[in-house]
Amino acid sequence: MVDQNPFFEPSSLEYGLPPFAEIRDEHYEPAFKKGMSDQLAEVRAIVRKHDAPMFENTLPALEASGQLLSRVATVFFNKSSADSSDFTNDLEERIAPQLATHSDAILLDSALYSRIMTVHDALDERSDLSAEQKYLVHRWYTEMTLAGAGLDDEAKTKLREYNQKLSTLTTRFEKNLLADTNELAVVLDDVADLDGLELGEISAAAEAATARGLEGKSLVTLVLPTGHPFLASLTDRGIRQRIMEASQSRGTHGGEWDNKKVVLEIVRLRAERAELLGFPSHAAFVLADSTAKTPQAVAEMLSKLAPAAARNAKAEQGDLEVIIGGELDDSLEADQAVMSWDWAFWTEKVRQEKYDVDTAALRPWFEAERVLQDGVFFAATRLYGITFTERTDLLGYHPDVRVFEVHNEDGSPVGLYLLDLYTRDSKRGGAWMNDLIAQSTLLGHEHTIVTNNLNVPKPAAGEPTLLTFDETGTLFHEFGHALHGLFAQVTYPKLAGTNVFRDFVEFPSQVNEMWMLWPEVLANYAKHYQTGEPLDQGIVDRLHESEQFNEGFATSEYLGAALLDQAWHGLSARAAAEVDDVPSFEASALAAVGLDSPAVPPRYRTTYFAHVFSGGYDAGYYSYIWSEVLDADTVEWFKENGGLTRANGNRFRTHLLGVGGSRDALEAYADFRGRPAEIGPLLKRRGLQ
Ligand SMILES: [Zn+2]
Repeated sequence: MVDQNPFFEPSSLEYGLPPFAEIRDEHYEPAFKKGMSDQLAEVRAIVRKHDAPMFENTLPALEASGQLLSRVATVFFNKSSADSSDFTNDLEERIAPQLATHSDAILLDSALYSRIMTVHDALDERSDLSAEQKYLVHRWYTEMTLAGAGLDDEAKTKLREYNQKLSTLTTRFEKNLLADTNELAVVLDDVADLDGLELGEISAAAEAATARGLEGKSLVTLVLPTGHPFLASLTDRGIRQRIMEASQSRGTHGGEWDNKKVVLEIVRLRAERAELLGFPSHAAFVLADSTAKTPQAVAEMLSKLAPAAARNAKAEQGDLEVIIGGELDDSLEADQAVMSWDWAFWTEKVRQEKYDVDTAALRPWFEAERVLQDGVFFAATRLYGITFTERTDLLGYHPDVRVFEVHNEDGSPVGLYLLDLYTRDSKRGGAWMNDLIAQSTLLGHEHTIVTNNLNVPKPAAGEPTLLTFDETGTLFHEFGHALHGLFAQVTYPKLAGTNVFRDFVEFPSQVNEMWMLWPEVLANYAKHYQTGEPLDQGIVDRLHESEQFNEGFATSEYLGAALLDQAWHGLSARAAAEVDDVPSFEASALAAVGLDSPAVPPRYRTTYFAHVFSGGYDAGYYSYIWSEVLDADTVEWFKENGGLTRANGNRFRTHLLGVGGSRDALEAYADFRGRPAEIGPLLKRRGLQ
């Protein structure tokens, strides 16, 4: 009997919603296998054509290839993130290497590359092609070139060796870091050492110690960044120092888990691989496929921020020293400077004194349904005219998932918005957006299906969900990504919605955060869930005032890490071979930009900088602030033009959100703004003028 696999045909449900009720575990693997072999056959059919390579006989078929694979992959990876099981964990482990091999088989296909190159080289003569079509060719050409499709067989073999060695080394980096982080957890004999922490934190530390067989003691486990959340409240200065020093020594204090040699090896191999592919450095290679385009552009942006950030941090340090001098207790001598382990502790005291905002007490004003309907949706309706209707008849992938149908002002459909708000054991941490159906007129996908996932604790039955201040911001943020997906208006799936460069993708979501505290929006949703009373204006004012507080420190520690990333990955192969001392390279890189204050260490030091040595953000840690430049400039534009209006929404939608990755992002931005992005608004936001 032939088993009907629901992935084998496009869904017949409204908007192409995957038929979740029919999908069973045993459907995934056969669909992945058939999906991969179908796509290889589809690509083979393109390269076997005997006609001269043209846009028309190459790109549309290439873009239309792999639809079965895409159907199963979107549903599967959505599930493995939001509702995983032993089954998904097991299949993911088996299928991930196969998918990597599959995508290499296409990206490194010499015959396909030669067709794309022919099309690419003839683009100037093709005035009949649209800008989107030309951009599509550029994107394929660049991606395949960077993957190494243009190399001869010998060089391809070498490339594969580099990739393999690097994959082993980055895994090693991660394992070392994990082991060293565990080993360096701080053991405290006396519970009095934890003075300042909350009771729950103290008992968790005792439990953590017990779990390691250290009955009666307390264990402070380290977190990934340099700073530890406990540093803001631990009153014992010596204990704070121990935690900070343990954190900063990860991967660099010798012994089995030392990462110094691993880093040098990764840096050297990445630089050599870049050279093989024709780039002067790994950063140049990575940035060739980004909005920033070159290491020089990144360096220029960072250099506009670093001196001012360092200056502000210095001023903040001065303020702290004055306060400490006045409040001196026996833990700090008058002539001692503020050290890295003092910063958070004293800053927290100043924050409470100066701004008196206890964001934890705001939760009754952030009831989830009001935030969603009267805040997030309300702002979107005012800007874009779109409306939301809950469709309880449409089934999501989990009972907690809510399905909303989105319509334009004229009643035409936009797509579906799935919201999966609550945390559960089967969901990974964090918050994110993903597509279930990406828009593409080529594929007949006029409408989009997007999901937002958060990790809000579920209240007891019958109780309201009261969001924290941060969770409220997160919902606005993730909804910005959702709009980017929903409003896509392109032909080719490769260019739709959030399929943009890493240093651009956070821009729409960061912009959408602006509406959370926008007076008109805030007044509409932030009402006490029992009394209906609005948020006190004094609190709102203090929230705004406190926004720049401690920004010198926050910007400096971020920039320190971003600059380290660029310094390591900006090395040529020859220069990389000459570096043999990680701490001294790091110290001189930070000193060169004035970010070498011991009181303000980088957010990650080299030997525990997992983002760039094992996490896929190599040469890309600058991305967060790069997109924030555009974000701050856009917020300024909305303010200059009357804020929350349909006209403003329309302009932002047509010029940026709808465009997705179908044209150069900075050109699209300049069209929207009437000029290229300026850094001034970001400097102002972070108090860096
Ligand atoms: Zn985001």
